[in-house]
Amino acid sequence: MTDAAAPMPPPPLRSNAEPPPRAKTVGPLRALLPFLRPYRGRIVLAGVFLVLAAVSTLVLPAALRVLIDQGLVAADPGQRVMALRSHFFQLFGVGAALGVFSAARFYMVSWLGERVTADLRNAVYAHVIEQSPEFFETTQTGEVLSRLTTDTTLVQTVVGSSLSMGLRNAVMGLGAVVMLVVTNPLVMTQVLGGLVLVVLPSLFFGRRVRSLSRASQDRVADSSAIAAEVLNAIPVVQSYTQEAREAERFDASTENAFETAVRRSRLRALLVAFIISATFGALLWGLYQGTQAVIAGEISAGHLGQTVVYVILLVSSVAVLSEVYGDLLRAAGATERLMELLGARSNIETPPHPVALPAVAGGSSLRLEGVTFHYPSRPLRAALDHVSFDVRSGETVAIVGPSGAGKSTLFQMLLRFYDAQQGRVLVDGVPVREASLAELRQRIGIVPQDAVIFSTSALENIRYGRPAASEAEVIAAARGAHAHEFVEALPEGYATFLGERGVRLSGGQRQRIAIARAMLKNAPLLLLDEATSALDAESERMVQAALESAMQGRTTLVIAHRLATVQRADRIVVLDQGRIVETGTHAELVARGGLYARLAAMQFSEGGLAP
Ligand code: ATP
Repeated sequence: MTDAAAPMPPPPLRSNAEPPPRAKTVGPLRALLPFLRPYRGRIVLAGVFLVLAAVSTLVLPAALRVLIDQGLVAADPGQRVMALRSHFFQLFGVGAALGVFSAARFYMVSWLGERVTADLRNAVYAHVIEQSPEFFETTQTGEVLSRLTTDTTLVQTVVGSSLSMGLRNAVMGLGAVVMLVVTNPLVMTQVLGGLVLVVLPSLFFGRRVRSLSRASQDRVADSSAIAAEVLNAIPVVQSYTQEAREAERFDASTENAFETAVRRSRLRALLVAFIISATFGALLWGLYQGTQAVIAGEISAGHLGQTVVYVILLVSSVAVLSEVYGDLLRAAGATERLMELLGARSNIETPPHPVALPAVAGGSSLRLEGVTFHYPSRPLRAALDHVSFDVRSGETVAIVGPSGAGKSTLFQMLLRFYDAQQGRVLVDGVPVREASLAELRQRIGIVPQDAVIFSTSALENIRYGRPAASEAEVIAAARGAHAHEFVEALPEGYATFLGERGVRLSGGQRQRIAIARAMLKNAPLLLLDEATSALDAESERMVQAALESAMQGRTTLVIAHRLATVQRADRIVVLDQGRIVETGTHAELVARGGLYARLAAMQFSEGGLAP
């Protein structure tokens, strides 16, 4: 698509193949604050439950100590049973509180995660669909989709679980340290020493494991990319009977992903073995010393039990925190990418003080004044080169020219999908840059060459032209577009589901739906891009009749491929390499014997397009 020599503007976004990058710090997560702010109340509540649950966990070992030390001391067996029973009830009370608080925290935090992700997704989507075509030239749809799903899911993991897991474990770990310092300073120092010995090598190992898991994600992404490409091109793949080769290509790619995953799992297994045995060794060593201390009468059995549980709490919270940190980094990377997308500014925007378009009756008027336009990706080649012409209200003008002449580009300028580098485009006397985008586009009905059919009913497909239209208005538009008969003949009439990409309709039928949609919109300016593909005579007659009624009472610009259409036009504008080379009626231009006469001789006879 691009000239090799042309200096390419730097793509504003990273390419699709990249998985979410890991940020170096968790700083980018701050960008999520605006999304969290509306839910302050819930966050505070979640925090309260989180602290309550952590405190209940920390109370458990102390309750256990009381149970061992006091529940078993009474000399009288009857008393012992009673004491034990009350201690068990207390312990159960703590456990029940832990259960309730944890559940409440889980619910609140998951709710937040889901809510924030949904908001973020909506914000990104709404922003992206407002971008100008230039944005979509440099950003692949697949990339936007992957950000909407994968990146937001990463954010969800963080907001909806990792963050609270991290906080809970931080509170618990800290609490355990405090309790250990208070109850057992000596054991505490030993445990901390042991932890350092376990944690340092694990950190080193952990980094290797993470880089391998990143690699394995990349490999999985590779195979999905292959699948996505092939699934979109199934008819081509099958017509070239390449199924086996494609299956092999996919196979090789998944195999690659498998091997990477196995390498990661092997390393991770080693890491787990090391952590478990080292921690266990350290714990047993502590326990051994503890039992010696109990025998020597230095501490009570309950005290020992309590200490052991605190140590286990501490160790597990350190392990969880290191995992959570990894999650946070990944989510920070994802957030960075999402914010990049949210920060993209469309260069086609309504000006701050738009000029209102005047009311018109019987069609808009148009004026192009020396319009020169280069596509942003092809700055050296003018797609339109000093194009000037006027179209009066109610006129029908046919645009004709060889492939690549700039016909579609002209439509893009009228719709203000791009801004001209030189010259002006005026609709009803107002330069399009000075009008409100919505107001401008409200004035224009468009029938593209490839009619877009949405996966909904025939009725809703036509109603897309004016969502507020009544059923009767939809049917009237369908009648005008000569679509009523075939729609009525569909299995469920107007309620018939037209399927993804309208696969259940013929080319001519799809076009008539598109014409009905534009007629329903009832805009004073109609832009028609005639289909180049040949239709059978009956279809052709219907489409021509539909066009005829669509052109009534409005200004029409039509990219013409049919003799019937050019003959009907008030005027023909012939474009070649972005310039207007001729204008006139069909008869005048044929008589002149220029480019139009040559094109007409070739296209309008060979294509079997005579009416
Ligand atoms: P056709 O009849 O084949 O549809 P056309 O007359 O409508 O052709 P345009 O689509 O307007 O031609 O294209 C004019 C020129 O601009 C062509 O050289 C084309 O390659 C180029 N062009 C079109 N769209 C883009 C784009 N998005 N980015 C870069 N160049 C483009």
